[in-house]
Amino acid sequence: MAAFDSRSIGDALARRAGILLFSGRGQDTPQPRQRLHLSPPHLAGGELATLSQTLSSGWIAPAGPMPAAFERAVAETTGFAHAAAVASGTAALHLAYRVLGVERGDEVWTQSLTFVATIAPAVQMGARPRFLDVAAESWTLDPNVLETQLRAAARRGRLPRAVVPVDLYGQSCDLDAILAVCGRWGVPVLCDSAEALGALYRGRPVGKGAALAAFSFNGNKIITAGGGGALVSDDPALIARARHLANQAKEVAPHYQHETTGYSYGLSSVLAAVGLAQITTLQARVAARREVFARYAAGLSGLPGLSLMPEPEWGHATRWLSVIQLDPRRFGTTPETVRRALESANIESRPVWKPLHMQPAFRGIRCHGDGLSNQLFERGLCLPSGAMSAEEQERVIAVLRSCCRG
Ligand SMILES: *Cc1c(COP(=O)(O)O)cnc(C)c1O
Repeated sequence: MAAFDSRSIGDALARRAGILLFSGRGQDTPQPRQRLHLSPPHLAGGELATLSQTLSSGWIAPAGPMPAAFERAVAETTGFAHAAAVASGTAALHLAYRVLGVERGDEVWTQSLTFVATIAPAVQMGARPRFLDVAAESWTLDPNVLETQLRAAARRGRLPRAVVPVDLYGQSCDLDAILAVCGRWGVPVLCDSAEALGALYRGRPVGKGAALAAFSFNGNKIITAGGGGALVSDDPALIARARHLANQAKEVAPHYQHETTGYSYGLSSVLAAVGLAQITTLQARVAARREVFARYAAGLSGLPGLSLMPEPEWGHATRWLSVIQLDPRRFGTTPETVRRALESANIESRPVWKPLHMQPAFRGIRCHGDGLSNQLFERGLCLPSGAMSAEEQERVIAVLRSCCRG
């Protein structure tokens, strides 16, 4: 067992971290043109200890003490009573749709302005999506549009099986308003909180109050397990059912007995170990991302036609990504020109999510609302938001300033 020398692995990990993080710290000479990534993984430092504990225990499968410890940490962090750790955020959403009883022909409603994984598993199950617009104050599901649409759906006698608000770019949706509207017609709410672990809504953790919430520990999220996700709920039956489905829906029997079919969605102990070390540092990661956002706000202030993603008074966002809006007429340059200028300075940036109703995969499905999603896509740009020195961030700000012709 002594065959593995944790010191040399630690050194290797630290060197790798330097490469992954572009941190320029320690012995690495900072290179001015080193690539700045949108949201690179950040090693917390405790990963090696939990990994080595896992490896020396022999429990490396998706079972045993490490996934259980990670699930407890996820439950505690998210404020939900129960958590199932799974292979990805998309898997968590898929399990949520199963436990909510989504069937072929059912409607599932979400905001159009999101990543495709929000709705993909439901569509693959034969559900029909309905896309709604977002509110200007938060860029998340507009409760007024939702109410209008639910009232009309109730009149038609065709309510959705689930409503899925998205906590976009680290910002909570207006959950109480959404819960109140959905509660009136008895429609369950599933929060896609994949981008918003650590965010608060009226002082409580994001998603808390919904029937279910899904989180992601993908490599680009605020903390990562190197891949993974979690489904959380206050209803023990929903999480027990999700766990059952995540583990091939095996009934208790000496042979394998199946009343339905499930998935191989368990989270490996090796990944849970990384996730456990990372999740203990969440508050520091939130503070760091908010600081990055604040430096952009200060460094970009005064540029005509440039604004940053708003933060409504009811929320405390993680600023998972710092997102700006450019009005090309006032700023004098289009977001795409700015993106290319950043790219030539070796800085990664990305447009705001292309709304799902504009995606060829959903041709013919419209978005209900005022069209804000389209405008945010046309004008939005996500900037590097991970661990960065003030000097590195200054590079981004300088390019943006140089692009302004307003
Ligand atoms: C990342 C993400 C997911 C999917 O999570 P994975 O762990 O990558 O499967 C789902 N929804 C949103 C909004 C996301 O940003």
